[in-house]
Amino acid sequence: MPLIDHPRVTCVRGDITSLPFTDRSFDLVVCTEVLEHIMPEKLQAACSELMRVCRRYLLIGVPYRQDLRVHATRCVHCGKENPTTGHVNSFDEERLFSLFGNMPFHQADYPGRGVYRTNRWSYGIYKRYGFPYGSYQQEEPCVFCGNRLEKPRPGVAARLICLFAKGLEFIQNKTGPCKSPVWIHVLWDITGQDSLKYQ
Ligand SMILES: [Zn+2]
Repeated sequence: MPLIDHPRVTCVRGDITSLPFTDRSFDLVVCTEVLEHIMPEKLQAACSELMRVCRRYLLIGVPYRQDLRVHATRCVHCGKENPTTGHVNSFDEERLFSLFGNMPFHQADYPGRGVYRTNRWSYGIYKRYGFPYGSYQQEEPCVFCGNRLEKPRPGVAARLICLFAKGLEFIQNKTGPCKSPVWIHVLWDITGQDSLKYQ
Protein backbone atom coordinates (compact mmCIF):
# COMPACT_ATOMS: atom_id res chain seq x y z
CA MET A 1 0.00 0.00 0.00
CA PRO A 2 1.33 3.48 -0.77
CA LEU A 3 2.10 5.57 2.31
CA ILE A 4 1.27 9.25 1.86
CA ASP A 5 1.29 11.23 5.07
CA HIS A 6 -1.27 13.96 4.46
CA PRO A 7 -4.44 14.72 6.43
CA ARG A 8 -6.58 14.78 3.27
CA VAL A 9 -5.14 11.63 1.69
CA THR A 10 -6.44 8.16 2.53
CA CYS A 11 -4.39 5.33 1.05
CA VAL A 12 -5.98 2.01 0.20
CA ARG A 13 -4.75 -1.20 -1.33
CA GLY A 14 -7.03 -3.22 -3.56
CA ASP A 15 -7.77 -4.83 -6.90
CA ILE A 16 -8.46 -2.59 -9.87
CA THR A 17 -10.92 -5.15 -11.25
CA SER A 18 -12.98 -4.85 -8.07
CA LEU A 19 -12.56 -1.39 -6.57
CA PRO A 20 -13.81 -0.99 -2.98
CA PHE A 21 -15.85 2.14 -3.75
CA THR A 22 -19.50 2.74 -4.55
CA ASP A 23 -20.64 3.89 -7.99
CA ARG A 24 -19.80 7.49 -8.90
CA SER A 25 -17.65 8.02 -5.80
CA PHE A 26 -15.14 10.47 -7.29
CA ASP A 27 -15.38 13.74 -9.22
CA LEU A 28 -12.01 12.95 -10.83
CA VAL A 29 -10.47 9.53 -11.39
CA VAL A 30 -6.80 9.51 -12.47
CA CYS A 31 -5.16 6.30 -13.62
CA THR A 32 -1.66 6.48 -15.11
CA GLU A 33 1.21 3.97 -15.27
CA VAL A 34 -1.25 1.17 -14.50
CA LEU A 35 -3.28 -0.21 -17.40
CA GLU A 36 -0.23 -1.36 -19.37
CA HIS A 37 0.51 -3.72 -16.45
CA ILE A 38 -2.92 -5.36 -16.21
CA MET A 39 -3.15 -8.81 -17.78
CA PRO A 40 -5.17 -8.57 -21.04
CA GLU A 41 -7.96 -10.83 -19.80
CA LYS A 42 -8.57 -8.44 -16.86
CA LEU A 43 -8.17 -5.19 -18.74
CA GLN A 44 -11.79 -4.60 -19.69
CA ALA A 45 -12.92 -5.26 -16.10
CA ALA A 46 -10.34 -2.74 -14.83
CA CYS A 47 -11.50 -0.03 -17.24
CA SER A 48 -15.16 -0.70 -16.42
CA GLU A 49 -14.37 -0.25 -12.73
CA LEU A 50 -12.66 3.09 -13.37
CA MET A 51 -15.77 4.28 -15.24
CA ARG A 52 -18.10 2.93 -12.54
CA VAL A 53 -16.50 4.88 -9.65
CA CYS A 54 -16.21 8.09 -11.69
CA ARG A 55 -18.79 10.85 -11.32
CA ARG A 56 -17.43 13.27 -13.91
CA TYR A 57 -13.79 13.45 -15.07
CA LEU A 58 -11.71 10.41 -15.97
CA LEU A 59 -8.02 10.92 -16.83
CA ILE A 60 -6.12 7.96 -18.27
CA GLY A 61 -2.45 7.77 -19.28
CA VAL A 62 -0.82 4.82 -21.08
CA PRO A 63 2.23 4.33 -23.33
CA TYR A 64 1.33 5.09 -26.95
CA ARG A 65 1.78 2.34 -29.55
CA GLN A 66 4.58 0.77 -27.53
CA ASP A 67 6.45 -2.01 -29.35
CA LEU A 68 6.47 -4.63 -26.59
CA ARG A 69 9.35 -6.48 -28.29
CA VAL A 70 11.78 -3.68 -27.41
CA HIS A 71 13.93 -4.60 -24.37
CA ALA A 72 12.00 -7.83 -23.83
CA THR A 73 13.51 -10.27 -21.34
CA ARG A 74 13.46 -13.99 -20.74
CA CYS A 75 12.87 -15.32 -17.24
CA VAL A 76 15.56 -17.82 -16.21
CA HIS A 77 13.11 -19.39 -13.74
CA CYS A 78 10.10 -20.19 -15.95
CA GLY A 79 11.68 -19.66 -19.38
CA LYS A 80 8.94 -17.32 -20.58
CA GLU A 81 9.43 -14.16 -22.58
CA ASN A 82 8.49 -11.01 -20.67
CA PRO A 83 7.65 -7.66 -22.24
CA THR A 84 9.78 -4.81 -20.91
CA THR A 85 8.96 -3.44 -17.43
CA GLY A 86 5.90 -5.68 -17.14
CA HIS A 87 4.03 -3.87 -19.90
CA VAL A 88 1.69 -6.60 -21.12
CA ASN A 89 -0.52 -4.26 -23.17
CA SER A 90 0.13 -1.88 -26.03
CA PHE A 91 -2.39 0.85 -26.81
CA ASP A 92 -3.46 2.90 -29.78
CA GLU A 93 -6.51 5.17 -29.93
CA GLU A 94 -8.80 2.43 -31.18
CA ARG A 95 -7.98 0.01 -28.38
CA LEU A 96 -7.97 2.62 -25.63
CA PHE A 97 -11.23 4.24 -26.62
CA SER A 98 -12.98 0.91 -27.10
CA LEU A 99 -11.99 -0.13 -23.55
CA PHE A 100 -13.86 2.94 -22.33
CA GLY A 101 -16.99 2.25 -24.35
CA ASN A 102 -16.00 4.69 -27.13
CA MET A 103 -17.25 7.53 -24.95
CA PRO A 104 -16.75 10.98 -26.48
CA PHE A 105 -13.65 12.48 -24.87
CA HIS A 106 -12.78 15.98 -23.75
CA GLN A 107 -9.08 16.12 -24.59
CA ALA A 108 -6.25 13.85 -25.80
CA ASP A 109 -2.56 14.73 -25.47
CA TYR A 110 0.54 12.93 -26.70
CA PRO A 111 3.45 13.83 -24.39
CA GLY A 112 7.04 12.73 -24.86
CA ARG A 113 9.03 12.20 -28.05
CA GLY A 114 11.42 9.55 -29.19
CA VAL A 115 10.37 5.93 -29.02
CA TYR A 116 13.13 3.36 -29.43
CA ARG A 117 12.21 0.77 -32.05
CA THR A 118 13.28 -2.69 -33.03
CA ASN A 119 12.82 -4.84 -36.13
CA ARG A 120 11.99 -8.47 -36.74
CA TRP A 121 15.61 -9.48 -37.47
CA SER A 122 17.08 -7.95 -34.31
CA TYR A 123 14.17 -9.24 -32.27
CA GLY A 124 14.55 -12.75 -33.75
CA ILE A 125 18.26 -12.80 -32.87
CA TYR A 126 17.67 -11.55 -29.33
CA LYS A 127 14.94 -14.14 -28.86
CA ARG A 128 17.23 -16.92 -30.08
CA TYR A 129 19.90 -15.91 -27.55
CA GLY A 130 17.72 -15.19 -24.52
CA PHE A 131 17.27 -11.41 -24.87
CA PRO A 132 20.69 -10.29 -23.54
CA TYR A 133 19.77 -6.58 -23.85
CA GLY A 134 16.45 -6.84 -22.00
CA SER A 135 15.46 -4.48 -19.20
CA TYR A 136 16.75 -6.78 -16.43
CA GLN A 137 17.36 -3.87 -14.05
CA GLN A 138 13.60 -3.23 -13.83
CA GLU A 139 11.72 -3.41 -10.51
CA GLU A 140 8.94 -5.57 -11.92
CA PRO A 141 9.35 -9.34 -11.51
CA CYS A 142 8.47 -11.94 -14.15
CA VAL A 143 4.81 -11.41 -15.05
CA PHE A 144 4.30 -15.18 -15.24
CA CYS A 145 6.06 -16.67 -12.19
CA GLY A 146 6.77 -13.62 -10.01
CA ASN A 147 10.51 -14.30 -9.67
CA ARG A 148 13.14 -11.63 -10.13
CA LEU A 149 14.45 -11.36 -13.69
CA GLU A 150 18.15 -12.11 -14.12
CA LYS A 151 20.42 -11.10 -16.95
CA PRO A 152 21.59 -14.05 -19.06
CA ARG A 153 25.28 -14.63 -19.83
CA PRO A 154 25.55 -15.63 -23.48
CA GLY A 155 28.82 -16.99 -24.89
CA VAL A 156 31.21 -14.96 -27.03
CA ALA A 157 29.70 -16.04 -30.38
CA ALA A 158 26.17 -15.26 -29.18
CA ARG A 159 27.30 -11.88 -27.89
CA LEU A 160 28.83 -11.01 -31.25
CA ILE A 161 25.67 -11.99 -33.11
CA CYS A 162 23.57 -9.95 -30.67
CA LEU A 163 25.91 -7.02 -31.15
CA PHE A 164 25.16 -7.22 -34.87
CA ALA A 165 21.43 -7.16 -34.04
CA LYS A 166 22.04 -4.11 -31.86
CA GLY A 167 23.82 -2.43 -34.76
CA LEU A 168 20.82 -3.04 -37.00
CA GLU A 169 18.59 -1.41 -34.39
CA PHE A 170 20.95 1.51 -34.09
CA ILE A 171 20.81 2.15 -37.85
CA GLN A 172 17.04 1.75 -37.79
CA ASN A 173 16.66 4.29 -35.00
CA LYS A 174 19.07 6.77 -36.58
CA THR A 175 17.55 6.64 -40.05
CA GLY A 176 13.90 5.73 -39.37
CA PRO A 177 10.82 7.95 -39.50
CA CYS A 178 10.50 10.91 -37.18
CA LYS A 179 10.11 10.32 -33.46
CA SER A 180 6.67 9.37 -32.23
CA PRO A 181 4.99 10.26 -28.91
CA VAL A 182 5.74 8.16 -25.83
CA TRP A 183 2.34 8.41 -24.09
CA ILE A 184 -1.29 9.15 -24.75
CA HIS A 185 -3.28 10.94 -22.06
CA VAL A 186 -7.05 11.15 -22.44
CA LEU A 187 -9.52 13.16 -20.39
CA TRP A 188 -13.18 12.24 -20.50
CA ASP A 189 -16.14 14.06 -19.04
CA ILE A 190 -18.38 11.06 -18.59
CA THR A 191 -21.44 13.27 -18.06
CA GLY A 192 -21.00 14.18 -21.73
CA GLN A 193 -21.30 17.92 -20.97
CA ASP A 194 -17.78 18.76 -22.05
CA SER A 195 -16.69 16.38 -24.79
CA LEU A 196 -15.48 15.93 -28.34
CA LYS A 197 -16.06 12.83 -30.39
CA TYR A 198 -13.04 10.75 -31.37
CA GLN A 199 -12.76 10.80 -35.16
ZN1 LIG B 1 9.21 -16.42 -14.78
